[in-house]
Amino acid sequence: MIDFNRKLSISEKINKQIDTALELERSFQPSRDYMGGSRIGAYCERALQYEITKTPVDPDKDLTGRILRIFARGHWIESVMSEWLKLAGFGLVTGPKDGGQFGFVSHDGHVKGHTDGIFVAGPEQLGPWPRLWECKGLEQKYFLALKRNKLQKEFPTYYGQCQYYMENLNLTDNPAYFCAVNMNRMEIHWEEVEYNPEYVSMLDAKAARVIMSCKAGELLPGAGQDPDFFKCKMCNWHDRCFSIK
Ligand code: SF4
Repeated sequence: MIDFNRKLSISEKINKQIDTALELERSFQPSRDYMGGSRIGAYCERALQYEITKTPVDPDKDLTGRILRIFARGHWIESVMSEWLKLAGFGLVTGPKDGGQFGFVSHDGHVKGHTDGIFVAGPEQLGPWPRLWECKGLEQKYFLALKRNKLQKEFPTYYGQCQYYMENLNLTDNPAYFCAVNMNRMEIHWEEVEYNPEYVSMLDAKAARVIMSCKAGELLPGAGQDPDFFKCKMCNWHDRCFSIK
């Protein structure tokens, strides 16, 4: 039986303060009314529709303070990686002079993306330049899986992001540099991602299909058939989706 009168520990009390503040701050941020270019390679078109149309997530999938702290960790690792790269002699630009990130718009404004940075110079043996730069922080098990299986197989969403950003930021001449940091051990894994125009065409067709279906008020088929499939279990609209399948 749950003890509702249990006294909260000091960690629980302080963390509750932090998480409540983070959740409140988040509630004031405007939500997206477009498809993120970083999401276009995602597994399921129906889930992308739910995302764009701001369909309420399942009750147990709301963004909690802990998840918001994980998001903040991702921004932090990008920021320190860019400092380390500059210290190491790379010419890395992370945004226009007046602030923000380099971005693009496609599909009449329905798709937008912002890159972590662009390498414009660096050690000669690691060029040629320029190149797109994308950076992710991963837990150990995902980091090891990435090293084993490589980006396209293990993280098609991140692979799609690199492809779509190379195309839309006009950085197709040289492979992108994708890096992942092991957030447990702080190891760093790098991959060169060659531009793949066929893959970009597939992503563009997917974006067009998702956007048109949203406009028409039609729901596309979900990619998953099994509610216990891990990608569906992690989906924010799992219960909603399988209640109408
Ligand atoms: S539960 Fe699976 S099939 Fe349904 S929207 Fe989510 S990812 Fe797609």
